[in-house]
Amino acid sequence: MTGRLWGVGLGPGDPELITVKAARLIGSADVIAYHMARHGRSIARSIAAGYMRPGQIEEPLMYPITTETTDHPGGYQGALDDFYVSCAERLSAHLDAGRDVVVLGEGDPFFYGSYMHLHKRLAHKYPTQVVPGVTSVSAAAAELGRPLVERDEILTVLPGTLPPDVLAERLKNTDSAAILKLGRTFSNVRAALAEAGRLEDAWYVERATTDKQRTEPLAEVDPSTVPYFSLAILASRAALPKATPAAEPAAGSVVVVGLGPAGREWLTPEAQEALSTATDLVGYKTYLDRVPVNPRQRRHSSDNKVEAERAVFALDLARDGARVAVVSSGDPGVFAMASAVMEAATEYPAVPVSVLPGVTAANAVASRVGAPLGHDYCVLSLSDRLKPWEVIASRLSLAAQADLVVAIYNPASKDRTWQVAAARDLLLEHRSPSTPVVIGRDVGGPNESITIVELGALDPSAVDMRCLLLIGSSTTQLTGTGKVFTPRRYPAT
Ligand code: SAH
Repeated sequence: MTGRLWGVGLGPGDPELITVKAARLIGSADVIAYHMARHGRSIARSIAAGYMRPGQIEEPLMYPITTETTDHPGGYQGALDDFYVSCAERLSAHLDAGRDVVVLGEGDPFFYGSYMHLHKRLAHKYPTQVVPGVTSVSAAAAELGRPLVERDEILTVLPGTLPPDVLAERLKNTDSAAILKLGRTFSNVRAALAEAGRLEDAWYVERATTDKQRTEPLAEVDPSTVPYFSLAILASRAALPKATPAAEPAAGSVVVVGLGPAGREWLTPEAQEALSTATDLVGYKTYLDRVPVNPRQRRHSSDNKVEAERAVFALDLARDGARVAVVSSGDPGVFAMASAVMEAATEYPAVPVSVLPGVTAANAVASRVGAPLGHDYCVLSLSDRLKPWEVIASRLSLAAQADLVVAIYNPASKDRTWQVAAARDLLLEHRSPSTPVVIGRDVGGPNESITIVELGALDPSAVDMRCLLLIGSSTTQLTGTGKVFTPRRYPAT
């Protein structure tokens, strides 16, 4: 088994910009190879040092020449070719012996990286993987705080070693640019930027993300101070900050949102969106508590007895520019906030008001037992807080005579305890004692329970304010498996 070759990108210089993968490989490799200048310092090694472990074999690959003067018969290129051949041989010896070799590279290995010379010579012989790194271009833009490209802008990457006229031509035909390999090429690059009319937009970044970083408008840089480890950036023009127009007064609104009978899965996406975009949430505390807290939003919770005041409060907030969501459980149009808001809103013609539906308790309870609401039905609230008992009694009686299935909301509360028995007795005047009754409590919530009893045996003590009752009609049936349904077809009389 031969060893594996890894070309590992180290990012631009800050060791925290090394990827987690690169750090792991550096720590686990048998051999760490890196390029080194004649002066004996390796930038790559110093970036990676904190991730290396004692006892690793090191292969410093020292460049043979720093200037283009050489006595090699092949000239500069010939000297370099020999160098890379000898580097590849040194690494092959380790790979053949089964040792894993990490070649360190600044930035990204496949972005003007010296690693590529070794890759060309070794990748076809050994299992090889390149680990990308943050390039100096990304790092420079981040340090300048200037976006590189947005929308359909073009970014051109240029080596400063190109002839000035080629550079200028390319710069004329691009939106953004990064020009690498500055150093001795700096004066050419500067001239090309001037020729392309872009010198004023250009920034100079040296040793980005290291503690020796320098950034300056490029036009102000003294060419004699520019090292190889620097680049020029023409940032996105589209991303330049725009003057913000004077703020329009925010347009307020009220949306009345149905939360459904219980948790998140009953909430429609539309209702979720309205809750997310609101600036203010208004509602009965128990229902508001179902909406996750977001510190960007103001929450105004109240008790359950002041619907009209809550509606006016919401409309006042909206008139002053707030986007208000008023929350209700179930459907907001069913014995809930929508009516109160609509009524109060007649005094606020300038405030847009909308209502978003939710799954109402009657439908949620019905779904748990089958299809008791499969035929005609009526919906009644048994609360005599907002209407006289005589009206309730008369409607119950007439609904029973009409042979409607009856869904009863607000059947009881701590203070209202006699109404369930009274309703049962009224219904029994027109309906068989064996009529199925579904008692659904806290449907969808942690204390959900569903009970099916006969009307004649309906015990008021089993019913509280968390319950909804479904009273069957003459055709409603209880199946052998404990399901309840009302057929679509009504028998001919
Ligand atoms: N707007 C709500 C109804 C508010 S009235 C809706 O559309 O569902 C409050 C009554 O609704 C309660 O007394 C109870 O009868 C019923 N209710 C609400 N949520 C319920 C649930 N999860 N399970 C059973 N009944 C519920």
